[in-house]
Amino acid sequence: MKRTLIIAKPDAVNRCLIGKIISRFEDKGLKIVGLKMDHLKVYTLREHYKHHEDKPFFEEIVEYMASIPCVLMVIEGKDAVNVVRKLVGDTCGREAALGTIRGDYSLSAQTNLIHASKDEETAKEEIARFFKEGEIFQYDKMNFNWIYCKSEKGLYDPAKKEGKTVEENGGHQAPQK
Ligand code: GDP
Ligand code: MG
Repeated sequence: MKRTLIIAKPDAVNRCLIGKIISRFEDKGLKIVGLKMDHLKVYTLREHYKHHEDKPFFEEIVEYMASIPCVLMVIEGKDAVNVVRKLVGDTCGREAALGTIRGDYSLSAQTNLIHASKDEETAKEEIARFFKEGEIFQYDKMNFNWIYCKSEKGLYDPAKKEGKTVEENGGHQAPQK
């Protein structure tokens, strides 16, 4: 399982969309392993958006993200970084596909509701930037067994099933070659 960082931005908080946004991730089956509100500091945001330092929108995005508290989440799942980016949609809300969070709720290139890590390496850096170790939790999630199939959970080895009786195979017919 992989982890990714989500920041529900000031417009999400102010437009009372936090519940809906969390629901989109929960409804997909993803697991929330960290969740908090924080008023982000300008120096942290300058670091977070450092790769955009030369862009005309850099100062504006930093100022906006520091304007009121944000809601931050660490989300876990198979291929979580890509799955979450797809759920979030393209950067500009006017262009993001309908059915994505930005496509459904945003009309802006900046106030686009959510930050989501762009790749796995960045996700690790960003999680470490915004969450302390004790703020991320490991727990069994009730519906986990129904979200992924056995092979996706690493619990299915067809080779081991061959030659077993139905009883040995937990009452199931072993797969035929
Ligand atoms: P993301 O990875 O989809 O969030 O997009 P980027 O990494 O390209 O940009 C980071 C954030 O900067 C975006 O989510 C927007 O909030 C903001 N941003 C990006 N492009 C623009 C722009 O053209 N104008 C303004 N004002 N903000 C922008
Ligand atoms: Mg980005």
